[in-house]
Amino acid sequence: MIYLDYNATTPLDERVLSEMLPFLKEEYGNPSSIYSLAQRARNAVEKAREQLAKLINADPKEIIFTSGGTEADNFAIKGIAYANEDKGNQIITSQIEHHAVLNTCKFLERRGFEVTYLPVDKYGVVDLEALEKSITERTILISIMFANNEVGTIQPIEEIARIAKKHGVYFHTDAVQAAGKLPIDVEELGIDLLSLSAHKFYGPKGVGALFVRKGVKIAPLLQGGEQERGRRAGTENVPGIVGLGKAAEIAKEEMEEEEKRVRKLRDELERRLLSKIPEVVLNGHPQNRLYNTLSICVKYVEGESMLINLDREGICASSGSACTSSSLEPSHVLLAMGIPPEIAHGSLRFSFGKFNREEDVEKVSDVLPRIVEELRKISPFWE
Ligand SMILES: *Cc1c(COP(=O)(O)O)cnc(C)c1O
Repeated sequence: MIYLDYNATTPLDERVLSEMLPFLKEEYGNPSSIYSLAQRARNAVEKAREQLAKLINADPKEIIFTSGGTEADNFAIKGIAYANEDKGNQIITSQIEHHAVLNTCKFLERRGFEVTYLPVDKYGVVDLEALEKSITERTILISIMFANNEVGTIQPIEEIARIAKKHGVYFHTDAVQAAGKLPIDVEELGIDLLSLSAHKFYGPKGVGALFVRKGVKIAPLLQGGEQERGRRAGTENVPGIVGLGKAAEIAKEEMEEEEKRVRKLRDELERRLLSKIPEVVLNGHPQNRLYNTLSICVKYVEGESMLINLDREGICASSGSACTSSSLEPSHVLLAMGIPPEIAHGSLRFSFGKFNREEDVEKVSDVLPRIVEELRKISPFWE
């Protein structure tokens, strides 16, 4: 099998699993209890908090563990909306966000909040002029993703943070695709809130975190116990949190090497597919893009048909994001980038990671052109 869908999820790193195992077995204490069994669990959670804080240059007190990226996004947006209603009711985001952000914003719209969905250019970069123009007296939050999960485009985060700060507006970024892949410094970048998720960088599924800068006014999403200093009720997912911490530590150490290796593989597949398959377009920013992501549109062919045929050859890829791949609508990200629906239907995403090798590139660049040729033979649009 060749796995090329690391933006959907990643396998667990063996070293992460080893750290987690004791907390799935004998170290089962509740971190809020007082005996030493429990205190060992507490210490493990706090160690993970430090490991994660280091990854993004935050203070450990600014880290709140969640059940993943989706909860972190919900928490950031609803939490800011509810805690700052007295200041205003406008939220600014972009048209290309993950559904965890988009659908949270739509939910708030139905409850009286106003949401501005900023357009992007053909590369998927948010229009900074439109951003500045859309800020009003009532704006309380700007939420723009760090890097896009479908096409990989990286946003001008520092500039967005600067604009937010100038207008006294909080800035949240969904960094689920960037965390663990790119160096992130929340201090240097001026980010107020940041979402991340363990399973996108070799940690376990069902655990993530929200960074909340000291002093930011945010309401909790869950009511209950006093865990996470009253900001996220519920007994901690100790094994998950330990795994997240370890994954963060490994990512920090190995990120630079991994970038070099993975970028080379991605670039090589990109070069080969673009030269071997006629009528293909590259999606996303040609340079300013996640080094592991290759998104293309193959004209006159359905993305789904290519995926099924790739799967027959043991190749796992995606037509866009995992969350929308069961719907027949073309990707909202590609449409926002101005790609016509008939072309967007032919989208294909390969996302690389730790366990890919050169042979994977060989195989895909061998197999896909043949699949496309076969499919085009039966396509009514191709001649
Ligand atoms: C995967 C992903 C999410 C959702 O994270 P989960 O931990 O799966 O809930 C949110 N945003 C982006 C950009 C993602 O890629």
